[in-house]
Order: sequence, then C-alpha cells, then structure tokens
Amino acid sequence: MSTQSKNPETLALHAGYRADPATGAVAVPIYQTTSYQFRDTEHAANLFALKELGNIYTRIMNPTCDVLEQRIAAIEGGVGALAVASGQAASAFAIQNLAKAGDNVVSSTDLYGGTWNLFANTLKDQGIEVRFVDPADPENFARATDKRTRAYYAETLPNPKLQVFPIREVADLGRGFGIPLIVDNTAAPLLCRPFDHGAAVIVYSTTKYIGGHGTSIGGLIVDGGNFPWEDFKERQPALNTPDPSYHGAVWTEAVKPLGPVAYIIKARTTLLRDLGSAQSPFNAFQTIQGLETLALRIKAHSENAAKVADFLQGHPSVERVIYPGLQDGEARRRADAYLKGGYGGLVGFEIKGGKDAGRGFIDRLKLFYHVANIGDARSLAIHPASTTHSQLSPEDQLATGVSDGYVRLSVGIENIEDILADLGQALDAGTARAAAE
Ligand SMILES: *Cc1c(COP(=O)(O)O)cnc(C)c1O
Repeated sequence: MSTQSKNPETLALHAGYRADPATGAVAVPIYQTTSYQFRDTEHAANLFALKELGNIYTRIMNPTCDVLEQRIAAIEGGVGALAVASGQAASAFAIQNLAKAGDNVVSSTDLYGGTWNLFANTLKDQGIEVRFVDPADPENFARATDKRTRAYYAETLPNPKLQVFPIREVADLGRGFGIPLIVDNTAAPLLCRPFDHGAAVIVYSTTKYIGGHGTSIGGLIVDGGNFPWEDFKERQPALNTPDPSYHGAVWTEAVKPLGPVAYIIKARTTLLRDLGSAQSPFNAFQTIQGLETLALRIKAHSENAAKVADFLQGHPSVERVIYPGLQDGEARRRADAYLKGGYGGLVGFEIKGGKDAGRGFIDRLKLFYHVANIGDARSLAIHPASTTHSQLSPEDQLATGVSDGYVRLSVGIENIEDILADLGQALDAGTARAAAE
C-alpha cells in the first residue's frame, strides 16, 4: 500500500501500487506474461506451499490483476480480492467457494438476468439449490434457511425495480446462523459500502461502472475478512474441513498467518486454479484506468440521473418514473440508508402507450445508445419487454418489474442539456404522433 489515506478518491489512484520496481513506470504496467521465474527451488517450494505469496502462473495470479485486486479491497475496506474473467464468473465462484452439491443458497428474487439463469439452471444442475425470496421482508431469508444453507445473496441496487436491498437486516440475520451475505454491488460502487453494513463478500461486474468505458468484461470478488468462519464449523464445512484438492488444508487454519483471508485464498487457489476463469492482464489494465476516475464519474452519473428523473416526472408522455430518489416509505428509507452521495445512474420509466410506444421511443433516440448494458460513461437505453425480458411470460415480466412500456436508462456523463434534449425529442415525437392518430 502506497498511501495511508482511507478516502476512496485517493485509494482509487494510489492503493496497491506506487511505481514499477523494475522501470519506475507510474502507470500500472500490463504484465503480459504467463509465467514467472522462481529465484531458486526453495522459493518455488514456498510459493506452492502458500508459505509465501507470489507469482507462479497467470491463471492464478498476475501483477496487473494484483493491483486491481489490492485497490478494490482497499476501497471497500476488505482484506483481499480476486479478479476474474467476468461478473458472471465472480457470482458463480462466490457461491461455489462455500456450497457444493446438496447445499443451498437463499437469494433475493431481484437479480440481473444472467445471475438468475446461473442460479435457476446451471447451479441447480450442479446440485446447488438456490431458493429465491422476496426481499421486501428480510425475514423471508430466515424462513427459507435450513441446515444446508451456506450463503445469502442479493444485489444492492437491482434493476428494473431499483429498490435497494436491506443489507444490514439480512446480513445480521445471517450472522446469527453463521451464514454470510454476498452482495453484488455492480450498480452502486462507492455509493454503497456493503461491508459497513455487515455484508461478508462483495461481487462486481467491473464491465459496468468500474471499467466505465464499455471496453472490457471483468469481475471481482472482495473478501470483507469480517466473517467468523471458524465459529461455524458445521455450517461452513468448505472453509473448516480438510480440502483434498490442496493436500488436506483446512483453509481457516492454513492461511491464518496471512490474516482473515481464508475465503478469498481458497477461491483463488482452488476455483480459479481448476475452473480457469482468469482475468487477462490487459482487461485488468483497462479496468484500473476506469477505477482511477470512478469517483468523478459515479458522481456525474448520479447528478445527471437525478435531473433525468425530475424531467421525466414532469413529462406528459410518462406514466411513472422508477428511481430511488422518487420512492417513498420503506423503499426510500433503504435507499437513503444504503446509498450515500447519490442514487446512481439508473432510471426507469413507463411510457404511455405500452410496448409500441416503448419501442418507438428507443428508435427515435439519437444520443443514447440502444444496448443491453449499463454503467458506460455514455448514455444507454433499452426496452426490456421487447429485448432482455422478451423470453419471459407477461406475468413473469410484471413480477420482475418490467411492464410493456418500461424503458431502462443508464444515464451517462454527457452534458445534461444534451441528455435531456435527446429524451425530450424522442418523447415529444411520440406525443405528437399519438395526438395526430
Ligand atoms: C452485468 C451484470 C452482471 C454480470 O456481469 P458480466 O461482466 O456481464 O459477466 C452481474 N450482476 C449485475 C448486477 C450486472 O449488471
């Protein structure tokens, strides 16, 4: 660590790296190498025995990825992190690190579509059952828990509903049972610090806001180092019983000299080693560039999104605006308890006129890109009923929060006047057409 600061803006530029020891390079170099020469046979043996941490082979560890990992761990207040090939790999590993065939996980229903598929189908085929519960009532997590429940899972700010998850309530419930809460914080980096609210593990798709420029797919798992695995030996066998895949190591004991890092070391030395979803050094480099300016961007995204929500709220072609800052009651309380410094860059709205109006609006946009992505510096829009959610039945669409006229905006950091002008012309043309018909 090259800075004593705890401020995320500073850590994003300085944590985990000062200058390249070989060349003095200030920008983090892309260490495009597969392997690393050992100093001698003793060094090699120590690395393999985890007596010393160091580079062996880029599938398991790489110096460029290492800077990204250290940086995000410092920003989140965690003890370690693991960079993987995608957000999907991060959520899969986060669960597979604790649960095996016959075990189960309790998850919020409000999930990214890819995560839903992973949980409902692929993990199920591997024998890991995911039990979906409505996060409106945190007690639903306790009700779905049994002896084989190994983790809880949720997203901080899930779209399309944009209702913030009750992190503290569910994390505390889980801690009573010895069950960690894994939080996907993809939509709210820096705005929410899940470890401050009791979460044990954070996962990210860095593809979105952290990378921020729409260039690189990537994922991160961050270990809070704040979960007492050893106090729950029966509940958490993966970290408390000998692991035959690593010469019988009991992870909580084997890595104790390195700190409370059993969870994240096991993910690296078993899952990443065996399943191989490593992040390329080049993508880690791109993601580091994004992370360095994330604090500025997330602020600009949030400010622009607030103005977009206001603008839509007052527009005659808009039925309803879905945005944390416009919610009331318990949803608003959660938004204000868990998001600090802004409500993020996502805004949903229902356009009058249903599916045709939604598609027409998207087709008329000129500045906004029409893509199935969020978190780019550019403004993005999609009409879920005709795209991402078109495979679902109308009832299932509604259950996930997608009505026929729902439009999702990922508001970018362009000048707000240009953003509002584009939305305005696409909405007004629709209003004029409806009036003429
Ligand atoms: C995109 C996304 C993912 C999956 O990430 P990839 O990098 O596309 O694999 C997971 N969770 C959320 C909330 C996402 O938006």
